[in-house]
Amino acid sequence: MKAWHQTVARAAARDIFKREIDSFLPRRILDFHVHIFSSASRPDRSTPFSCAGHPLRSYTVDDFFDDCKAAYPRRQVSAVCFGMPFTAWNKRINDRYVLRACDFQRAFPVRLLDPEHDTPDEVRRDVIGHGYVGLKPYPDYVRKISPNVTRVPNMLPDSIMEIADDLGMFVVVHLPRPGRLADTVNRKDIARLCRRWTRAQIILAHVGRAYFLKNIVEGLDGLTEIPNLWFDTAMLNHWEVLAFLFKRADPRRLLFGSDAPIAFAPGKSVEINNQYTYITPAAWDLSIHDTSGKLVFTSFLYEELRAIRRAVEETGQSSSFVERLFFHNGMELLQRHCSRMRGEKNK
Ligand SMILES: [Zn+2]
Repeated sequence: MKAWHQTVARAAARDIFKREIDSFLPRRILDFHVHIFSSASRPDRSTPFSCAGHPLRSYTVDDFFDDCKAAYPRRQVSAVCFGMPFTAWNKRINDRYVLRACDFQRAFPVRLLDPEHDTPDEVRRDVIGHGYVGLKPYPDYVRKISPNVTRVPNMLPDSIMEIADDLGMFVVVHLPRPGRLADTVNRKDIARLCRRWTRAQIILAHVGRAYFLKNIVEGLDGLTEIPNLWFDTAMLNHWEVLAFLFKRADPRRLLFGSDAPIAFAPGKSVEINNQYTYITPAAWDLSIHDTSGKLVFTSFLYEELRAIRRAVEETGQSSSFVERLFFHNGMELLQRHCSRMRGEKNK
């Protein structure tokens, strides 16, 4: 039995969906932030991945679509998928699994990017030959520099950005450094990256990791005008952060993302004194956990959807805004890359 099903009562979840989500959620959903992995990708077969405190030995594309079927009744779901970007994991096996699992109809593969081991030739061959639609670097892959001080260009060397630019790819960036979106160095690096490589599309995962209000209030300035910079909403549980973004960003550059499989686990991200933490029913190294069972939890996913709904309502967005966020923006981004690739093949 999977994490999400263990502690979230199905009847209670159905009730939340019916009362709070069903009338709001569009018929088509493209989830732009999904992690999948085979058990062979894990570093140590005996230790499972801790999915917000619940052991997962693998999370296949079928697991994801099964979870979606339960979480979003009567919705047509598609997904942009990548592996687990951890240095101890077998990236090659994970990337290959993602490629095999994605059918380019419902699921689209993104390649993890390790700047120390991936050569530009390999990346270009993989994209042109196998059809990866995007790249996902990660601060931890810059092994010699701590994620607290590393910089975006360390994660994304020019030789790789040249390919992303040439092939019109998107790059999902998980910002490093404790200041996240509000870090001046990060913001300069992102602005410079977008302005130098104008045909590449840069996606700030988790709204630049601005999980608490002060971070986006101090961090968004100057970024919303950049035409090739996008924001995904993965794991955002905070409606005020989303409302701040929805009021200022170009509505064509917002992408719904869940961060499955963690999204399906029970818990919530909360702001406390200009910081955030996760609260979960199970012990997890990233959370404070409810040892005495004081709270009844629902999934992070439903907290994400509640926050999006509230932010949409508070900022007076239209239903076409919601459809763009959940589906059309992401589809346009995928199509943009695909038409660029058709051009490449006809060369
Ligand atoms: Zn993620």
